[in-house]
Amino acid sequence: MKKTLEDIDVNGKKVLLRVDYNVPLDEDLEITDDKRIEATFPTIEYLFKKKAAIILMSHLGRPKGKVVPEMSLKPVFARLSEFFGKRIKFIGGDCVSSESKKMAKNLKPGEILLLENLRFHPEEEGKNFAGERDNAAKDMFAKELASMGEIFVQDAFGVVHRAHASTTGIVKFVKDAAVGFLCEKELKFLGKAIEKPMRPFLAIIGGAKVSDKINVIENLLGKVDTIIIGGAMAYTFLKSFGLSIGTSLIEDSKLDLAAELFKKAKEMKIDFLLPQDHVVTDKIDFVNKNVPSDAQIDTTIDEAIPEGFTGVDIGQRSIEKFSKVIKSSKTIIWNGPLGVFEIDEFSKGTVQIARLVAEATDDGAISVIGGGDSVSAVTKAGVDDKISHISTGGGASLEFLEGKELPGLAALPDKI
Ligand code: AMP
Repeated sequence: MKKTLEDIDVNGKKVLLRVDYNVPLDEDLEITDDKRIEATFPTIEYLFKKKAAIILMSHLGRPKGKVVPEMSLKPVFARLSEFFGKRIKFIGGDCVSSESKKMAKNLKPGEILLLENLRFHPEEEGKNFAGERDNAAKDMFAKELASMGEIFVQDAFGVVHRAHASTTGIVKFVKDAAVGFLCEKELKFLGKAIEKPMRPFLAIIGGAKVSDKINVIENLLGKVDTIIIGGAMAYTFLKSFGLSIGTSLIEDSKLDLAAELFKKAKEMKIDFLLPQDHVVTDKIDFVNKNVPSDAQIDTTIDEAIPEGFTGVDIGQRSIEKFSKVIKSSKTIIWNGPLGVFEIDEFSKGTVQIARLVAEATDDGAISVIGGGDSVSAVTKAGVDDKISHISTGGGASLEFLEGKELPGLAALPDKI
């Protein structure tokens, strides 16, 4: 167990708080969803109560070590100012400039300083200005960040799977460190779901590629009672049984692996469920997520997909079959949509499953949704507030489900 905010002395201290303010922006650089900002408020409020001064550190986008004005944290500062008024300050430009350091030095208890995008510095991601891997440069940058405060608090779950200056590097240069409330919540839900699940334990895995989620499936095989596979991933499994899958998206190089995973699940007596029918179309533009108006859309009668058709969603019979399993589950983890949910016509399966997971949660199940597209799907279904926990870190939650060690957490001190 890692030290949490309540295990460390932050009274009157200068706290370096790593947050994930990598928020979506529109063309006018307006924030379109500020959930990630609000998610950090419990930690900020707690630090205020403890009369700490807070130095906020975040990245935004992928500027790749260069100053990209469109990726400035200025819009985040504007949004934070709406909540914290004059207590919050922002210094643009270089996050470790002498001016930044001066502002950090003069910061009073109950004030916040937001530093500019950490990834304007290549050292944040372990590179030097020539773009080469350079751990010494990363450490130097981490040391400079650390010099602005005394204590480090990690509340950016979305980056703990990365060994960056502001995740692993900084820890060795501060007096003490801990996870913040948001990170603690992520670990509590994800950890409990995996290690001490209420049973029956169901995993729903969808998305585009088997190859992205093999490790998750393998790790979960030893833990769950049932796995539902949906999305394009399902077609690789179906083809490995010799079924026709038309022009559906598949990974031919993963056919043996899919067959092996299925066999392993059977040996372990795990229910490994695949769609029994599919919504198919003869025309689809995957790049622009668009279906032409003259496309023929149908539902298959069974698992097989006819020549010339592409599978794009699970069909009604599959929804009904999955519905029974979802209703009787007590722990549900879900990662990846069950169809091309970005296109309304093909979002029904994913949306229905989202509603069923929400209903099961109402009836007492614990539901955990891991990052990215699955989160958009539950939002689209309008049930995001009914899920027990929606992870703020896509990649990090996936690696957690794979059973991997997350370097940004491993670097933090353990509870005594
Ligand atoms: P992932 O990032 O692996 O969770 O994959 C999410 C993507 O999988 C979304 O963009 C979906 O449109 C896509 N996807 C889901 N089902 C299908 C399908 N049947 N065919 C093609 N893409 C799909």
